[in-house]
Amino acid sequence: MTRLLTPQDIAQIVATRGLPDVLRRLEDAITAGFLRWQEFDKTARVASHSATGVIELMPIADRTHYAFKYVNGHPGNTKAGLSTVMAFGVLADVVTGAPQWVSELTLTTAMRTAATSVMAARALARPGSRTMALIGNGAQSEFQALAFHYGLGIRQLRVFDTDPRATAKLLRHLQAVPGLAVSVHASTAEAVRGADIVTTVTADKRNATIITPEMIEPGMHLNAVGGDCPGKTELHPGVLQAAQVFVEFEPQSRVEGDVQQMPADFPVTELWQVLAGRAPGRRDDAAVTVFDSVGFALEDYAALRLMAELALDLGLGQPLDLIPALADPKDLFSQLQPAPALRRAA
Ligand code: NAD
Repeated sequence: MTRLLTPQDIAQIVATRGLPDVLRRLEDAITAGFLRWQEFDKTARVASHSATGVIELMPIADRTHYAFKYVNGHPGNTKAGLSTVMAFGVLADVVTGAPQWVSELTLTTAMRTAATSVMAARALARPGSRTMALIGNGAQSEFQALAFHYGLGIRQLRVFDTDPRATAKLLRHLQAVPGLAVSVHASTAEAVRGADIVTTVTADKRNATIITPEMIEPGMHLNAVGGDCPGKTELHPGVLQAAQVFVEFEPQSRVEGDVQQMPADFPVTELWQVLAGRAPGRRDDAAVTVFDSVGFALEDYAALRLMAELALDLGLGQPLDLIPALADPKDLFSQLQPAPALRRAA
């Protein structure tokens, strides 16, 4: 039987477990997935572009489970009262192909993206990083801020957004978090000054240059989340040129990440290799590291499986009447039998 996980179910899981616990479990689940890299049938996501945004399908499978996510990215949506990013997905049994779960993935994507960012920073940022700049204070921003606070011990957050209302909303949500000091800045350049980690999570459908070479300080780790689509980037090419760059799945990141601006032979390292101890991470304390995040299907696979497990523990997930229940699996037609239209035709 297929079960449905709604945004309310996900909120219930977070309310019961606590956000720090859910984020930690997500990071663990995603890390475990990355360490099983070779076991997955991987493919770059399939994108359908329009003048206003993109709709993407993200499939992946291992020997037991198949997952896909439907997700959009429409930076102009918020002006029309809609989210920039909206998502849902399916987790299916590989042996039978039966869909087991249909789940919301808008909230879950925000949490899995933040957990993936922390996983990357844990491997790449200087140990003892305590200050983070957060550029872009929209829907993803609280998740990023809190994941870095709980997971990596970030105590000082320096924030900037071109929309002061977005920053005011972020401040409202973070003001009661003990041990996290938040300062608001007048520009990106001011916010990133002295930061150990710089997270960019802006939305603009163009080759933006949120971070330019003169803003970079030795030892910084950049968590570049918002450049995730052809023609949509956040880092000046000079920033990448002077850094060690790490990606999720290289064939996808070359097209969608900030590295799309660089020549095809520009060196990048897949993050799983660092996690598995097969490639070096940060060279030294003065090196600048970039996690060129675009979002990879394996992160959603791990998140879907975790959320399904946590939902079962709490008795959440209502049955969804999606696939016909047949007494005789060869007799699909009987499902239509009482249909009035057919009776009239006869
Ligand atoms: P959002 O529209 O809610 O927020 C984006 C914020 O960026 C807005 O508040 C906007 O005012 C701000 N902004 C735009 N240009 C700016 C600039 N030049 N300087 C400072 N701020 C600026 O969007 P969101 O849901 O928070 O998503 C943010 C970005 O992250 C999107 O581009 C989205 O596609 C991307 N994203 C990536 C992943 C991933 O896995 N890498 C996952 C989810 C979302």
